[in-house]
Amino acid sequence: MSEFAFELELCAALEARREGILARQLGGSVASPGSRILDVVYIEPGPEFDRRTTITADSIPDAALEADVGTGRARYWKDCFDCHPKRARRAVERAVEIGFFESERRNGREYVRQVARYPDWYGKLVGIENKPDLGRPGDLEAQLRLDASLALVDEAVLATESYVTRAHLNRIPEAVGVWRVHRDETAPTGGDTGPVDDAIEIEVIRDPAPLPNMTAGIEPLEYHPGRTDIAVVSPERKARARRRLAERAYGKGWRTYEFPACAACAPLERDGATLPHCRWADRVVDASSECGPACPGYEPVEEPTIRVDLEAERDERTAWVADPAGKRRRQSGLDRFS
Ligand code: SF4
Repeated sequence: MSEFAFELELCAALEARREGILARQLGGSVASPGSRILDVVYIEPGPEFDRRTTITADSIPDAALEADVGTGRARYWKDCFDCHPKRARRAVERAVEIGFFESERRNGREYVRQVARYPDWYGKLVGIENKPDLGRPGDLEAQLRLDASLALVDEAVLATESYVTRAHLNRIPEAVGVWRVHRDETAPTGGDTGPVDDAIEIEVIRDPAPLPNMTAGIEPLEYHPGRTDIAVVSPERKARARRRLAERAYGKGWRTYEFPACAACAPLERDGATLPHCRWADRVVDASSECGPACPGYEPVEEPTIRVDLEAERDERTAWVADPAGKRRRQSGLDRFS
């Protein structure tokens, strides 16, 4: 099974079984941004999760959260930021656009304030590394070593379809949990076959141990024979990176795939989620990298035949709110003056 298909089916199953936020493909390193991408991130809801859902459906930019913009008196935007003016300007525009800041003009200057206090909305962060086939591990060991020593997430888990041996367990850090994913081989997979729930079962081979997210983390940067270059990431920097990760997960979610404009693609309904299944390849496909004229099975159609609103599906299936009432109120208030 492809890692892509495995990842989507696992996300669908986790979403059906857990409260909170699931997202795919997010940066999991701090000192060297982009060098570690977490396959799946699960965000457990914190005490004020519901308040977060009322602010905006999108990710709130980090620079806007760092800025000295409060909920009380509006302040001149340039006085609130301690970063490059271009970054500050982008953050203001985005924060206003998504409804986190309100802005007003006085004497030709723009003043901003937050529409609401930023809530304590996320609890535990869990990073899940998908490796359906442990016979093709790639960089698995190095990736999991980074997750365990940096401890940006509170727990790290390896998810696989392979039989997990003692040798496999010995090669990965002790703190990393291991799930074996069993698929119901009798579940229909041909697309248009109707919804299937509980098509996969998650067997916990080893529970993850809590990672020390409040202390400094060690991020391996480069491996050389006999030595590893590292960066020490302070607790403050880590806390900020955790908030950024949680925000990105909130805005992005895991339904970031597309349905191809190809007659061979049909919907596969798994645990309430609609996935792109290809009849020709007989599996879930990643339209952005696999579909198009170069594919031998490609049957072009004007538009994708699957017309599912993935945002609406996320809204319906999870606690994430696509169109928060607060934002709607603010927008209709603005409309009165336009
Ligand atoms: S382009 Fe190829 S892989 Fe994609 S849906 Fe069509 S037949 Fe399947």
